[in-house]
Amino acid sequence: MDLGADLKGRRVLITGASGGLGAHFARTVARCGAAVAVAARRTDRLNDLVETLKGLGAAQAHAIELDVTHGAAIHACVAETVSALGGLDVLVNNAGIVRRGLAIDQTAEDFDDVMSVNLRGVWLMAVAAARHWRETGTPGNIVNIASMLGERVSTGTASYCVSKAGVVQMTKALALEFARHRIRVNALEPGYFETEINAGFFDTEAGKAMIRQIPMRRIGRVEDLDGPFLLLASDASRFMTGAAIPVDGGHLLS
Ligand code: NAP
Repeated sequence: MDLGADLKGRRVLITGASGGLGAHFARTVARCGAAVAVAARRTDRLNDLVETLKGLGAAQAHAIELDVTHGAAIHACVAETVSALGGLDVLVNNAGIVRRGLAIDQTAEDFDDVMSVNLRGVWLMAVAAARHWRETGTPGNIVNIASMLGERVSTGTASYCVSKAGVVQMTKALALEFARHRIRVNALEPGYFETEINAGFFDTEAGKAMIRQIPMRRIGRVEDLDGPFLLLASDASRFMTGAAIPVDGGHLLS
């Protein structure tokens, strides 16, 4: 089955698309001929990305300024996507942050920042999209970008681990409730991929030691996510909901 073919003409909204994995997911669905709305705070980057997406074959590409910590902005973002693309078929909840440091040294604000983007933002986006699908009576598909650290823990990223474990559990809880509206909810759990969220870490001694713990002995390349991502974003996963799929070179096994 051609996973990408199914996405032709589908309307996909991706949060946190101004860099890293989100921008890569946008390029991936653009190559499949999807219509894409890319959302984040840095609109200069999004505007450049929109031009790239059009060149790659996107049916449409549209940039939306979005801060997922602002509830009103989330509702406006879903409405703008529907207006710009003529509807919404797939929501990719990708925006995420990390605040590095030992839990004992972190402030309440550090914790709140992480939860506000990684957990509350994902929740509000999912609910806003689900309300749209319920109102229009159309099926929907949500792909949450969780993390391997939703399943295991690492030193210095405790609040991030907690938030991502919450995303995994949220994926299951919302899948259970949304199925009656023909809305599926699944999650990807990437292992380590070099992006701005972890820039420089893999060149440090700690980073190199971490790579030695990965059974496949390397960090991920963004294109390693393409197959699992397209599976969840397309109807190839039409009988899957509430699943969380690790894409980590076996890291969860070590
Ligand atoms: P990244 O390069 O730092 O990108 C994070 C994205 O989130 C940026 O586009 C950023 O855009 C956006 N964002 C941050 N705060 C936001 C807010 N308040 N509102 C809207 N957008 C916001 O990181 P990445 O590695 O691509 O991470 C993408 C997702 O994958 C995250 O959920 C991350 O936890 C997850 N993940 C990454 C890895 C990895 O190894 N890289 C592994 C597992 C999971 P603006 O700053 O422009 O708003």
